[in-house]
Amino acid sequence: MYSERFSFDETVAKRERIPSSRPNNTIDQLLLTPYNVFTDLTNDQLEALAQRAAYITKQRFGNVMRFFVPLYLSNECYNNCTYCGFSYDRNIDRYTLNDTEVIDNVQALVSRGFQHILLLTGEAQKTVEMPYFERILPLIRPHVSQLGMEVQPLEEADYSRLIVCGLDAVTVYQETYHKDHYLMHHLSGKKRRFEYRLDTADRAARAGVYRINIGALLGLSDWRFEAIALVDHLKYLYKTYWQTQFSISFPRITSIFDATRPLHPVTDRQLVQLVCAFRCLFPDLGITLSTRESAQLRDGLMALGITDMSAESMTSPGAYTGIDAEPQFSTTDHRSLTDIQSVLSHQGMDSVVKDWDRTYTCSGS
Ligand code: SF4
Repeated sequence: MYSERFSFDETVAKRERIPSSRPNNTIDQLLLTPYNVFTDLTNDQLEALAQRAAYITKQRFGNVMRFFVPLYLSNECYNNCTYCGFSYDRNIDRYTLNDTEVIDNVQALVSRGFQHILLLTGEAQKTVEMPYFERILPLIRPHVSQLGMEVQPLEEADYSRLIVCGLDAVTVYQETYHKDHYLMHHLSGKKRRFEYRLDTADRAARAGVYRINIGALLGLSDWRFEAIALVDHLKYLYKTYWQTQFSISFPRITSIFDATRPLHPVTDRQLVQLVCAFRCLFPDLGITLSTRESAQLRDGLMALGITDMSAESMTSPGAYTGIDAEPQFSTTDHRSLTDIQSVLSHQGMDSVVKDWDRTYTCSGS
């Protein structure tokens, strides 16, 4: 399990060894010592890194972008996370979709052209737990071609049971790999178990989940520290679970109330550097960019390394059928799937709403 391998002290030491800048180094030289690519880059270095990332992305993935849409099932949560609209201490109305509302929302999304759906919940053991998941996944499965979940970390046996129900992909962000900062932002609830969360990708991969998406919530800690931790985590996952597909996201904290102002802000330029650096370090890695980011930034990053984008995202339960509930955070890119597809097409790229069907590799459900 990764919690037995991860060393905070070694990650800090690696962070301290990153030079503040290496203006005379080429991108090849910076990539030779992988963490050095997270140094402050000159404009010429960043341009060269972006060109390299664009070349690798085209070579490995072609001119295509995969699309998915998040579907929030519940805003109930028993954890207190300083940055989240669903945090337990927030005095908001709580709502969990019933079976009919789930299917109505899925059908609304399918009619808009989506085939890959990511289900999200807060972490509320009494309502959104295994019995709920095992009931609704088989209801959704016949309508979509890929079903992902971003819910509380589960046991390996639970992931195995959910695969039988139709689960293809799991997203779990460590939020921050800096344990002190982790405990500072996760004030109460089961989410305080740093190591248990760190081992979630192991448990999902051991159960046989096909795609696993990891990441850090940028803004909680120093982005260079998070980048090093993510490089090391990915190296471990690739080496240990060669049969699993991995992807990464770089969500930046999005403000919904005052407490969500990031303590360690990450600029657009640094986000571009992160995306391009990870593309060069991990050529086959899926890289996801959400509607937290602006249309302008998303359009600019399309060809530089991103392989998966969300669209038309709403972050409250049942929002696609007009249910009025509290959102988790605010989004920035509000364009329709069709509008984004049109931008892609002007860039000479195609969009893919379905690239996976479980019948390709198993008997299906
Ligand atoms: S981030 Fe997740 S666990 Fe934390 S309060 Fe929000 S929904 Fe709950």
